[in-house]
Amino acid sequence: MAMAAKSLAPVLISTVFCCYAFLTPSHASSDDFPQCLSASIPCPLVHAQSSPSFTSVLVSSIRNARFSTPTTVRPLWVITPTNASHVQAAVVCGRRHGVRLRVRSGGHDYEGLSYSSKRPEVFAVVDLSNLRGVRIDKQNSTAWVDSGATLGELYYAVAQASNQLAFPAGLDLDLGENVVVGNVSSYEAGKVWGEYFRDNYKRHALAKNEIDPDDFFRNEQSIPPLGPGKYGAAGTRKMARACGRNILE
Ligand SMILES: Cc1cc2nc3c(=O)[nH]c(=O)nc-3n(C[C@H](O)[C@H](O)[C@H](O)COP(=O)(O)OP(=O)(O)OC[C@H]3O[C@@H](n4cnc5c(N)ncnc54)[C@H](O)[C@@H]3O)c2cc1C
Repeated sequence: MAMAAKSLAPVLISTVFCCYAFLTPSHASSDDFPQCLSASIPCPLVHAQSSPSFTSVLVSSIRNARFSTPTTVRPLWVITPTNASHVQAAVVCGRRHGVRLRVRSGGHDYEGLSYSSKRPEVFAVVDLSNLRGVRIDKQNSTAWVDSGATLGELYYAVAQASNQLAFPAGLDLDLGENVVVGNVSSYEAGKVWGEYFRDNYKRHALAKNEIDPDDFFRNEQSIPPLGPGKYGAAGTRKMARACGRNILE
């Protein structure tokens, strides 16, 4: 009996640790979600809000601090699958227990869509950063890239495989390119990709005018300078005031 109790101890301890990861605030419809996950996903890959690893895993690919404030609606769980069956299990459990899933690959989008919510809701993040393999088929000039891989990892793998293959990415030139007027990029033309920056486009262009009014540092989709060149920096500041903001804030 004593032997049995002794040999059970490690099992009990690991069960307690394992369950710790699943302690979450109570939400009627989602209470059984962690239990469901535990049938198919190893405990260390499920980070509940109460887990010590939760915050570091959540912020690991938050690129924009605007989506990581005390009032941001955060997930109740972050799941970090290491193989496709874990993703499948998360989808099945989420569906079964009414937990919405947000998939995060690089966390780089402009809206924080992959890890935050605009309204209060029960959701989990499936973070694919562990699924980042890149397999190059030189023969057929194709590549199979897992969702969590970065562009840098892809470029590196392609370069390792061949000095004749390349993968162009990181620029959506189908949107258009700078239209240069009088050796300076056009502010109007730049609005197409300037939309990325929402109402900050104008602010960026005013700042560019302060720093590089001649548009010396230019690429296909760079921010053009905006300001009445002949009035110099004073003119730019006047425009900034017209915008109602300090352009360098
Ligand atoms: C400074 C900056 C520059 C940029 N420049 C460019 C550019 O030059 N060209 C360009 O095309 N884009 C550009 N973008 C946009 C960016 O590439 C996209 O937002 C892209 O979606 C980010 O990829 P991600 O893997 O980080 O996506 P995430 O931020 O992880 O996710 C974005 C959205 O896709 C969903 N999602 C993520 N992974 C999956 C998946 N495996 N299956 C299903 N849904 C998934 C998420 O839930 C979320 O809704 C830029 C963004 C920034 C911030």
